[in-house]
Amino acid sequence: MSKYIDAHCHLLDAPNVDLAISNAQEKGVAAFVCAPATPAQWDAIVDLTHKYPFVFGTLGVHPWNVCELPQKYITVLEDLLIKNPKLMVGEIGLDKNRPDIPHQVHVFNEQLKIAHKYSRGVHLHCVGCWDIVMRVLSENKNTLPPFILAHGFSGNKNDIARLATEFNMYFTYGPRNLCHQHGATRILATPQSRILVESDGADSTVIPSLVSQMSEILNMETDILSDIIYENTKQIL
Ligand SMILES: [Zn+2]
Repeated sequence: MSKYIDAHCHLLDAPNVDLAISNAQEKGVAAFVCAPATPAQWDAIVDLTHKYPFVFGTLGVHPWNVCELPQKYITVLEDLLIKNPKLMVGEIGLDKNRPDIPHQVHVFNEQLKIAHKYSRGVHLHCVGCWDIVMRVLSENKNTLPPFILAHGFSGNKNDIARLATEFNMYFTYGPRNLCHQHGATRILATPQSRILVESDGADSTVIPSLVSQMSEILNMETDILSDIIYENTKQIL
C-alpha cells in the first residue's frame, strides 16, 4: 500500500481526533502536519505532537484571527517554539476576504521574523494577496524562514518557479484546489519536487483519492506520484 503524509490538516476540528487518525492510517496516511484554527488550539497541538510521534504541528495566528490577538502572543509563541523544536509556524499570511490588510501584513511580518529566528518552516495561507505576499517576502529576503509551504496554493502558475527558488516554497493541493477551474494548470506548472497534498481539514482519509486525481492530471502512475509526494513532504518535517 502506498504511504501518504497529509501536509496540512486540522485534526483538532475532528469530533474524535484519535479516531480521525486511525481512520486515516487505515488508508495509508502515515503522518500528519496539523495546524491550529485559532490560538486557543495551540496547547492542544503541542499535546497532540507529544502523544503521536507521527503528528507534526504548526503554531501561529491565522489571518482570520488577527483582530483578536491574544495578549503577548509573540512571547507565548516564542516560548512554545523554544520548548518544541520540531514545531513549525503557521498558518500565517493574508486573506483579501478578511478586514484590515495592513494589520494582517503587520502580524504576518512579526511571525515571519519569529520563524526565521528559530529556523522553522512556515505554513502560508494566502487568498487573493499574492502581490503583497511576494513583496513582504522580498523585503524579508535576508531573514526568510528555511522553507514556506503554500497551503492550498491559489496563486498565479507563472509565479511558481520564482516562488520555489527565491523563497524555497512548496505547494500543497487539496480538495478545493482540485475542483477549482485553474487547479490542474497550477499542479501541472509545479515542479515535481515541490508538490505536496493536504486535506486542509479533519478528515485525512481523503488523501489517497486526492493523489489519484493529481496523478490523472499529471498523467503519472498513482503509486509513483504518491512516493514522490511522500518523499517531498519528508524533506520538510
Ligand atoms: Zn488550513
